Amino acid sequence: MGVGTAGTVDPTRGVIRYATDSLPGWAGTPVADALAARLGRPVRVTNDVSAAALGESWAGAGRGRGHLLLVAVGTGLAGAVVRQGRVETGARGAAGQLGHLPAPGADRLRCGCGRYGHLEAIASGTGLAAAYTAVTGTPVTGRGVAERATAGDPAARRVVDRAGAVLGASLAGLVALLDPAVVLLAGGAGDTLLPAASAAYHAELPAGWADVPLLPAALGADAALVGAARLAATTIDENGGTRA
Ligand SMILES: [Zn+2]
Repeated sequence: MGVGTAGTVDPTRGVIRYATDSLPGWAGTPVADALAARLGRPVRVTNDVSAAALGESWAGAGRGRGHLLLVAVGTGLAGAVVRQGRVETGARGAAGQLGHLPAPGADRLRCGCGRYGHLEAIASGTGLAAAYTAVTGTPVTGRGVAERATAGDPAARRVVDRAGAVLGASLAGLVALLDPAVVLLAGGAGDTLLPAASAAYHAELPAGWADVPLLPAALGADAALVGAARLAATTIDENGGTRA
């Protein structure tokens, strides 16, 4: 059985190492052992964005590419790296969290992690909402900003364009670090930011990586489910079993 869950997951034990306040009590939960005991099956657990990256790599917009960077713009900003068809977990299951990179223009903005100046403070649903409210005085959600931008609201358009530009430039730098075959933009606000992100990304890509595409993810909300299934199937293969 494969599981994709919010929070930072210990990649070997399947325990939640860290979770934000939106999931009180989730940190410390031994998800793999608890499910294995109830279901009598081996369980592999990964972070939900890592699962989405695995799903897109296996059966979505990254199919056949092997190496990819997936960026998910939702309420926050998260990412995951797939190398040779496997998620790069890092030492503590937290690799790929690009939301905490320093970002131009974010110095006075508070990130979800509590520090200031990070990319997530601009390029996220929370960041879009805060920027729009600061300019207009109108409280609105990130989704609301996206809808207003689509409807032609000039203030929303400017907020979205700025967030997309900062995100795209950051992704161009990450391409030089990670050398992926493709970069995928996912999450509820991904499509909204894609045009501005794409323009900045292609303008900033170093020459050696000029052909690395930035594409929308293809599987939507199913990506994490598909990736969790892939994780389970991979585990069966590794243990010498047969796959249904
Ligand atoms: Zn941060």
